[in-house]
Amino acid sequence: MPDVQARIARIFEEVVRRNPGEAEFHQAVKEVIDTLVPALRAHPEYTEHKIIERICEPERQIIFRVPWQDDRGEVQINRGFRVGFNSALGPYKGGLRFHPSVYLGIVKFLGFEQTFKNAVTGMPIGGAKGGADFDPKGRSDNEVMRFCQSFMTELHRHIGELTDVPAGDIGVGAREIGYLFGQYKRLTNRYESGVITGKSPAWGGALVRREATGYGAVYFLEEMLKARHDGIEGKTCVVSGSGNVAIYAIEKLQELGAKVVACSDSGGAIHDPRGIDLATVKRLKEVERRRIRDYADEHREARYVAGGKVWDIPCQVALPCATENELDEQAARTLIANGCIAVVEGANMPVTPEGVRLFQEAGTAYGPGKAANAGGVATSALEMQQNASRDAWTFEYTDRRLREIMGKIHRDCYETAEEFGHPRNYVIGANIVGFRRIAEAMLAFGVV
Ligand code: GLU
Repeated sequence: MPDVQARIARIFEEVVRRNPGEAEFHQAVKEVIDTLVPALRAHPEYTEHKIIERICEPERQIIFRVPWQDDRGEVQINRGFRVGFNSALGPYKGGLRFHPSVYLGIVKFLGFEQTFKNAVTGMPIGGAKGGADFDPKGRSDNEVMRFCQSFMTELHRHIGELTDVPAGDIGVGAREIGYLFGQYKRLTNRYESGVITGKSPAWGGALVRREATGYGAVYFLEEMLKARHDGIEGKTCVVSGSGNVAIYAIEKLQELGAKVVACSDSGGAIHDPRGIDLATVKRLKEVERRRIRDYADEHREARYVAGGKVWDIPCQVALPCATENELDEQAARTLIANGCIAVVEGANMPVTPEGVRLFQEAGTAYGPGKAANAGGVATSALEMQQNASRDAWTFEYTDRRLREIMGKIHRDCYETAEEFGHPRNYVIGANIVGFRRIAEAMLAFGVV
């Protein structure tokens, strides 16, 4: 089918036309569909049944007003979103992001990524994302609680353990999940544990869920390096971010014998040549909710660069674990010049398309988020399993399951990349693995 490429180009033009101004969504779609050409050549039925066109159109998009009162009694109004992107493989599944940058285009990019990522896990979960343009920074506990309650007052009509199962993302952690679930329970008169994941293990959450995205990314790195007859031990690493993903990526890297010399937050970066002291980062970020610059006050050998990023610090492995498009072409050039051999995405779409191209040309092992950070949502699916069976697994058992899942994701992506003639290209591997699973289910369901 010589016209597959032209058809993909037309589909992309149509996506841009139908979703004006949503640059992140366009970027996410382009990144995926450009890699699907070999799969479409092998499966003409996907084209005949317009599978890509259907996948690019979210099944449903909900936008709602979130009114709440701040501590001074002033009324605040935010905008809430939930996009159910695709439910071919299971109930909609994906996190909620509370951040001032949130608008429909961000939610759609994340929902689109989530759909493929969730399919890559091989677990029975569809793809979704949601959130609000609410900025939790500087807000009191009470303000966050009132916001979450108002947000759930609308959202509760649209979710359910068999319909749509939210979780956390940037700005939504255990505290917010607690407030959201408490309001859901009150409004519905149901203790429906499986309606949300990322819950505290004290009331229905799964052990390892908190650690899972970071740990999973490092397990994926381990597999990538193993495929190159290399390992994590002794590697110098930089990790961007200092939130949930970054903290547990650092923890696992250190446990496996790597030296993590840098991390960051939106204010700047810390370089600690002796190795990041994780206990300090955890206390500053998880307990005291402070900024990473305060790390330097407690560790004199560390240097804080206001507004700086971690990418110009020499390393062998880089893990972008903060946010989208945080590692650009310039940063990729610097990393390559400094001898970086592997880049693994803990965040969603953190490397720009130009950055990805440079890594691939340089032969840097590059693990895209759809595969590398899938451990978080995979463990959410394990949480749903535990909720459905009213069971609670041990930390060791759950961690073993996570490690197996990451190993299987790596194997599937690796083998699929080979099958389509692009050895070690995990981008092509992950996108085709996810796409084929979704496409097969959609074909089976007919035109729905
Ligand atoms: N927000 C996470 C992600 O990007 C987790 C979603 C979930 O657990 O449902 O995959």
